[in-house]
Amino acid sequence: MKAHDGMYIGGAWRPGAGSDVIEVVNPADEQVIATVPAGTAEDVDTAVRAARAAFPGWAATPPAERAARLAALRDVLEARKDEIAETVTAELGSPPALSRTVHAGVPVAVAGSYADLAATYAFEEKAGNSTVLHEPVGVVGAITPWNYPLHQIVAKVAPALAAGCAVVLKPAEDTPLTAQLFAEAVHEAGIPAGVFNLVTGLGPVAGQALAEHPDVDLVSFTGSTAVGRRIGAVAGGAVKRVALELGGKSANVILPSADLAKAVAVGVANVMSNSGQTCSAWTRMLVHRDQYDEAVELAATAAAKYGERIGPVVNAKQQARVRGYIEKGVAEGARLVAGGPESPREQGYYISPTVFADVTPDMTIAQEEIFGPVLSILRYEDEDDALRVANGTVYGLAGAVWAGDESEAVAFARRMDTGQVDINGGRFNPLAPFGGYKQSGVGRELGVHGLTEYLQTKSLQF
Ligand code: NAD
Repeated sequence: MKAHDGMYIGGAWRPGAGSDVIEVVNPADEQVIATVPAGTAEDVDTAVRAARAAFPGWAATPPAERAARLAALRDVLEARKDEIAETVTAELGSPPALSRTVHAGVPVAVAGSYADLAATYAFEEKAGNSTVLHEPVGVVGAITPWNYPLHQIVAKVAPALAAGCAVVLKPAEDTPLTAQLFAEAVHEAGIPAGVFNLVTGLGPVAGQALAEHPDVDLVSFTGSTAVGRRIGAVAGGAVKRVALELGGKSANVILPSADLAKAVAVGVANVMSNSGQTCSAWTRMLVHRDQYDEAVELAATAAAKYGERIGPVVNAKQQARVRGYIEKGVAEGARLVAGGPESPREQGYYISPTVFADVTPDMTIAQEEIFGPVLSILRYEDEDDALRVANGTVYGLAGAVWAGDESEAVAFARRMDTGQVDINGGRFNPLAPFGGYKQSGVGRELGVHGLTEYLQTKSLQF
């Protein structure tokens, strides 16, 4: 794709107010592949005005017509899948197969799910002598991270548009080209001018201006807990709605009755996929003490095999951060059984798939989100101990439980303080609500729960 040197505002590509640009770097070879405009508060203001002007018309558009536009958007995303996958590989570094199946594929399913929901959701209901109207919240400021560049955008924009909201998107600075492709797709799908707007730019400049803008009714943010906390405070001060999808430190609990080899293999693949840059990754593997040594050996072998296939992490800063955590793990007494802090290649921001054994719950690598291909294996004594360890972080985004019997795994999952749990390797479901307990966030994305985030109720009494 060719990068745009403008921003998509009010249905057209226009130059930014300033002249600064952001360089987009390919993390596999460290080369600059494009530049995009670094938006300013003025650009954000122009985009919010465009969204505000478009909002009443879109909100009044019958849901069936909104559904038709979303179906068209899904079709464009499907038709441009190869280009999307190539762009994600170029700016994020993910291996081509992952880019095609997950980065380009999942957004098609999610956009399709909101085309269906817009057509079928009951935007009006009866409650006694009242009619309850489910109305769009208004102008949405969406701020997204780089790790699943298109998925994170579609998981916000598709439900917002289905609800009848207008959107201003500020995507991550590392992956703006995918966001530009998405804006092209919105245009091609015939979504009216101003209903979706794109401002590329830096978080503390354009992102902050969007979160603070008085005419934004809802801020939907996905990213780090540190930034999320600030955005929550700003939104709270202005009494505006906020949805926060933040970090995670999810547990993969392998109960003694489980198929150990399968649970370990799937667990390692889960952590290494996307170079460990998945907020819901099961970065803590919990194994019963009697099976511990066997699990460690299986995990070390699986991680070593993964070495050839893993992509780089997104940028030099992330690489340094992940290496810092690996060094800290060693310093705090964990036992390195695969990988390590050394760079496996001379060029590119690569990290070796890394596995730590003898990790205890209080260690930094067992508590903090690393966001790299690093797995910690912890030992538990019995089920209650496993539960204490699983629930023993500030996060609660996802998790996994493995057992010989599904109901045994479900009984354990019910006791976990987390928003999603995969039972014996359950598959991703684009309709299942996704979001965090505790400091992993506020609100839910995907499916009907994702749609209702963008709606507010009005009750009419008769
Ligand atoms: P980040 O918080 O640094 O950035 C996320 C977005 O916020 C980017 O668009 C960035 O430009 C913007 N931003 C940064 N500072 C800002 C500010 N002061 N005001 C407004 N916007 C600002 O996070 P990241 O490094 O891009 O992403 C990694 C983090 O995201 C990880 O912690 C990960 O767990 C989390 N994440 C969570 C989910 C989820 O659904 N829960 C999904 C993906 C990533």
